[in-house]
Amino acid sequence: MGVEDAGRAGDGLPSACPRCGEALVQKISDYGWRRKPNEWRRCPGCGWLGRPDLGGRPILHPFRRLTGEFADCVFCGWEDSNLASESFVDNGWLCEWIVCQACGRENVRRIERAPE
Ligand SMILES: [Zn+2]
Ligand SMILES: [Zn+2]
Repeated sequence: MGVEDAGRAGDGLPSACPRCGEALVQKISDYGWRRKPNEWRRCPGCGWLGRPDLGGRPILHPFRRLTGEFADCVFCGWEDSNLASESFVDNGWLCEWIVCQACGRENVRRIERAPE
């Protein structure tokens, strides 16, 4: 269990940070959300995060900084450390991934029921 550095990816996704050009590191987490591993990319230079497109397109969706009650990490307690992906629909719920910049752990937050 945990977050692993899976090394350089060879799957057609961008390999360089769009912000500073550093080589992105592939991260895969198996932290228990319905036992489905989540994957994202992290820039060791500036901390940029992106996740692969769920529809298989060769693009990365950038994470955004969270504010308010969801900005603090529920795992390590670090304040204003959470970044969130663009929302996506899973199993009838509108969800977003939240990744802590301090400890690297992530979880999926259900925002609301997705419209039918
Ligand atoms: Zn960067
Ligand atoms: Zn944390």
